[in-house]
Amino acid sequence: MTDMYYDDDADLSIIQGRTVAIIGYGSQGHAHALSLRDSGVDVRVGLKDGSASRAKAESEGLRVLSVSAAAAEADVIMILTPDQVQAEVYKNEIAQNLQAGDALFFGHGFNIRYGFIQPPADVDVALVAPKGPGHIVRREFEAGRGVPDLIAVEQNASGKAKELALSYAKAIGGTRAGVIETTFKEETETDLFGEQAVLCGGASQLVQYGFEVLTEAGYKPEIAYFEVLHELKLIVDLMVEGGIAKQRWSVSDTAEYGDYVSGPRVITPVVKENMKAVLADIQDGTFAQRFMDDQANGAPEFLELRRKGEDHPIEATGRELRKLFSWIKSEDDYTEGVAAR
Ligand code: NDP
Ligand code: MG
Ligand code: MG
Repeated sequence: MTDMYYDDDADLSIIQGRTVAIIGYGSQGHAHALSLRDSGVDVRVGLKDGSASRAKAESEGLRVLSVSAAAAEADVIMILTPDQVQAEVYKNEIAQNLQAGDALFFGHGFNIRYGFIQPPADVDVALVAPKGPGHIVRREFEAGRGVPDLIAVEQNASGKAKELALSYAKAIGGTRAGVIETTFKEETETDLFGEQAVLCGGASQLVQYGFEVLTEAGYKPEIAYFEVLHELKLIVDLMVEGGIAKQRWSVSDTAEYGDYVSGPRVITPVVKENMKAVLADIQDGTFAQRFMDDQANGAPEFLELRRKGEDHPIEATGRELRKLFSWIKSEDDYTEGVAAR
């Protein structure tokens, strides 16, 4: 088994002795900034002028500065803007504010792995990547728990970059859950593969096809929604608690037998070959370049695909059904964000 680091392996006083700038205040940024602050760390937030996030950060009592002012004040700079704008933010507002001995931190290795950001040799470059969405990272911290983190060191100019990354991970609750050391290459490539092949891409397509097959066969969309989307969470919770084995133990024998005989008919070895092709595009940089080129042109492909996804009939069915679910909270940043779009 690989080494895991816990609270006792990390010294909180290291990050408490530094001056931290969190650049961006979105999903990850708000979680890091608030939990660092609650852990006694001197933190400021860097945002661009007119940022929609500014009011949120200020209402939490955080100091908000321009990105360059925050970077100039800080000696640990954590970049938590969207991946596709990091290189530009770095070039225009961070690079000239880096001093020897500073540390440049990331929540995902994308821009370092693919060379879109190339920091000078005299700064530490490290990664603290929570393995969960930012809102869960913050919720777990507030509950006295944490979400596991990956840490990695790309440049160890100070000789103490790993200790600093572990200390930072402790301040956001990561060492409560467990921290694993990796490399920027491994974190980036596995993160992209996981979200594309299984978690986001694979699961979304599987659910959409399941919904289409049932509704095209004449079954009610509401029933189809329950069977292929809503119950997915219950199944995944069991997998997280006890692996695929616990899920199979908990469902009926009928469902378990159907899993064995029909799963491999749906997800055939061709799917595995397709996954390998996706991985190859991640490893050779094809995916990263396609994403960044589209973004540089105003993201026409991305916006078109987003619109197509939102137009899938499962979304309209789900919106109506969820209004009837008293147990699902829908007034959140997501609802606000979609309304503003
Ligand atoms: P979000 O899109 O949620 O938030 C981005 C933040 O950056 C917003 O506050 C936005 O402000 C701000 N921002 C956008 N452009 C600029 C700019 N030019 N200058 C300054 N600030 C800017 O990002 P995420 O939290 O999803 O992602 C941040 C990083 O964390 C990425 O590297 C991602 O891969 C990584 N990560 C994300 C996870 C997640 O849970 N989402 C999980 C693990 C890692 P505004 O309000 O103005 O748009
Ligand atoms: Mg990711
Ligand atoms: Mg059933």
